[in-house]
Amino acid sequence: MPLLRMINRYVIAGVLSVMLAGGCQSDPKPNIYKETQTLMGTLVEIKLVTPDPSAAKKAFAAAFAEFVRIDKAMSIHSAESELTRINQAAGKEFLSVSPEIFQLILQSNYYAELTGGAFDVSIGPLSRLWGFYDKQYHKPSQAEIAALLPLVEYRAILTQNPPPAIRLAQPGMSIDLGAIAKGYAVDKAINILKQQAITAAIVNAGGDVRTIGSKPDGSLWNIGIQHPRKPKLILASLQVDNQAVVTSGDYEQFFIYQGVRYHHILDPKTGKPARVCQGVTVVAQSTAAADALATWIFVLGPEKGMQLIEGLPDTEGLIIDAVGNLTLSSGLKGKLNFPLKKFGLY
Ligand code: ADP
Ligand code: MG
Repeated sequence: MPLLRMINRYVIAGVLSVMLAGGCQSDPKPNIYKETQTLMGTLVEIKLVTPDPSAAKKAFAAAFAEFVRIDKAMSIHSAESELTRINQAAGKEFLSVSPEIFQLILQSNYYAELTGGAFDVSIGPLSRLWGFYDKQYHKPSQAEIAALLPLVEYRAILTQNPPPAIRLAQPGMSIDLGAIAKGYAVDKAINILKQQAITAAIVNAGGDVRTIGSKPDGSLWNIGIQHPRKPKLILASLQVDNQAVVTSGDYEQFFIYQGVRYHHILDPKTGKPARVCQGVTVVAQSTAAADALATWIFVLGPEKGMQLIEGLPDTEGLIIDAVGNLTLSSGLKGKLNFPLKKFGLY
């Protein structure tokens, strides 16, 4: 083939392939990239949309680094975390802390006020007693629970600012940010992705999900909500537009003892697993707020929970009560897909 014709052919083929890929050369086709890492005791999955693989790589590195940073500060498991430092100083003097953890503890205490203590991050001693930290599960006696209940008291988390400082008033107290830190980390990771000029992504930290933008085909991100009693099945799914969707369930961390399920969301009043729900999903703007809200509704139950959701702006929810009945907030009606309905399983 004469050289010129050959070049022509390649040029035409080249132009065609770029057009098929969705535009001119300066606008190559965006792809979905996915990366997962185990962080904060859960699987963190990030999907992002970009035409540029090196931009994807950079954005993944920055977003996962943010998870690592927050985990390092807020982990109850690490001897070096800032949270452990706060807990080790329980009963002693005020301790200077980072503005970041200070703010999150203040926010948590605000939620504690709002819920009459149903949400209380001073739950630490009880989480430990039930064996949820070391996974050496243990059904404590009433006497063991009663001995620790006085240590669960958000009002005894004393704060001072400026400079930000925390003091746990009684020795033996400990803060556990497990109900809010994952959601907070998702918000921070989303901010990092935005700073990296990523305009479409979904971050999922073990059921704490937030999205930006849409998929390359223009459709919104779809989020599945796990069936609380059929772990491999999706109970419901919904499409979200730049929102957070967070689920708290009694199936995430639990053990069965003498036929009874004991799980990790505790009622600070009784010191025992909350018994009024199987699962709570909250849709909101902030993942941290949705995370806290899902946990506290789990403790408060469907009636108070739904009342609360209906009263909050830009907040929707799905509550599955103790026997499996579903309640949807007004804004979710007609927005959910129930794939199991055709099989009579919901
Ligand atoms: P998950 O971590 O499974 O997403 P949650 O967001 O509901 O679930 O958080 C549960 C965690 O929160 C527990 O593992 C414990 O660390 C902490 N926690 C348990 N009960 C309470 C409570 N009543 N208030 C605040 N935090 C709690
Ligand atoms: Mg939570």
